[in-house]
Amino acid sequence: MLENLSARLQGIFSGLKSKGRLTEEDINAAMREIRMALLEADVNFKVVKSFIAATKERCLTAEVLDSLTPAQNVIRVVLDELTALLGETNAKLELSGRMPNVIMLVGLQGSGKTTAAAKLAYRLKQQNHQPLLVAGDVYRPAAAEQLATLAGEIGVKVYRGDGQDPVRIAREGVQEAISTMRDVVIIDTAGRLHVDEDMMAEAQAIKDAVEPDQVLMVVDAMTGQDVVNVAAAFAERVDFDGVIMSKMDGDARGGGALSIRQVTGKPIKFISAGEKPDSLEEFHPDRMAKRILG
Ligand code: GDP
Repeated sequence: MLENLSARLQGIFSGLKSKGRLTEEDINAAMREIRMALLEADVNFKVVKSFIAATKERCLTAEVLDSLTPAQNVIRVVLDELTALLGETNAKLELSGRMPNVIMLVGLQGSGKTTAAAKLAYRLKQQNHQPLLVAGDVYRPAAAEQLATLAGEIGVKVYRGDGQDPVRIAREGVQEAISTMRDVVIIDTAGRLHVDEDMMAEAQAIKDAVEPDQVLMVVDAMTGQDVVNVAAAFAERVDFDGVIMSKMDGDARGGGALSIRQVTGKPIKFISAGEKPDSLEEFHPDRMAKRILG
């Protein structure tokens, strides 16, 4: 993902490097090309607009234009601005002192919630926590089964409850964690194919019932521009604390991943690039920006 953008940017930068001195027109031309590359990578147009404005302003200073290595300085500015766009610093998963800590996952159906729940549990288990997974997705018949299978693979307990009331299951799951001395509860919830009122109301009801320490939204990086619309709808209706960006291993253009922080104001906490339990990585804006610039 983002390989095309990466190749485009590297091409633009090598063009700049071959010029030696840079004029204002060179910077303007490079900014136009960067703008196109970002739009083609499916980055939200408002995000592109403010990114280019900020980058251009910093590149058109004497400090950059009159320096001995203007192209290098332009690259540095782009790197800085890209890092800022991605959220600047690594937003760690902070567990509170509460026992048990409750983490709730929300997102559309198919976004990768169930898989992310298991990956998160695996990660916490590796860090010597005793997580409990709670199967709150009561509508997709295979969801609880899928979670139980994944939980079995990573050796983590799962609470499935019975019945069709996700609020009750979530509450009981937290109780179960208390009585079995689990220190983190990860609640998988039901998504829908599109943003809809029932899903939002249900997520909010679970949130009210269990008062999670954090709500993480799982978004599918392959859904491009739509990522931003979905996340903005959730941010408005069920406030969340951070994002897990799934399917970063796909070959989509990936602009959603670059837009989400600025559009929602919420940090990306993890990215997932694969279906294996260990494919959840902490998200580091600076590393990602460096990777994109090559
Ligand atoms: P949910 O409906 O939100 O719970 O989504 P699932 O967790 O069931 O994921 C939907 C599909 O995406 C499943 O086939 C997963 O195996 C797959 N999936 C989830 N995360 C990733 C990922 O990071 N990379 C890839 N390639 N596939 C993923």
